[in-house]
Amino acid sequence: MALADFPRGVEKQVALAHDAGLMVHMDGARFANALVSQQYTASEMSWKAGIDALSFGATKNGALACEAVIFFDRLNAASLPYQRKRGGHTLSKGRFLGAQMAAYLENGHWLDLAGRANGHARRLAQGLAKVPGTRMPWPCEVNEIFAILPRKIDAALKAGGALYYPWRFRDFAAKCTPPAEDEVFVRLVTSFASQASEIDRFIATALAATAK
Ligand SMILES: *Cc1c(COP(=O)(O)O)cnc(C)c1O
Repeated sequence: MALADFPRGVEKQVALAHDAGLMVHMDGARFANALVSQQYTASEMSWKAGIDALSFGATKNGALACEAVIFFDRLNAASLPYQRKRGGHTLSKGRFLGAQMAAYLENGHWLDLAGRANGHARRLAQGLAKVPGTRMPWPCEVNEIFAILPRKIDAALKAGGALYYPWRFRDFAAKCTPPAEDEVFVRLVTSFASQASEIDRFIATALAATAK
């Protein structure tokens, strides 16, 4: 099936897999960020939408090397300990990594961290929107921003110590014209550990580069 024919919407994609006798795994590396942003419940975003297995990420949201693999039907999890070992993911004293999950989930800490990361991204997107020559193909919904920057702004940001990478532009319903020769398409990611002052410095550096 060509990508263009792939049905849009998670329910349709889940149905397509289930009709073919396949199970559906959701990569939830940023599950918390999506949940906080979209105001769904965790169940609506997983088993109620037909997801069979979820990798519930904690590493990108503050933990050290800690993810939970959740099967919504216990029977499907029967072989996981063996698969995990064969995949080289069974660590000795792994319980010390796993112990982070208790603190992560307690009192909604995981949601607070994600809300903080998303808030930093919003601050960055609002700042970038005021930088002349910069445009964003999609609205900022989680802790990631995709932006088209003039090359001279990109150079000034890199010279100022900003760390980010170029991203391949694909036209997935982008709401702006693709990057031109003198522009670069980048992905910017904020985290629980970002500082508002760093974001403000990033924007100030970009603004100073346009003024030159
Ligand atoms: C980081 C990560 C990804 C990539 O996620 P991005 O949002 O593109 O950074 C995918 N899967 C897992 C398990 C990850 O940890």
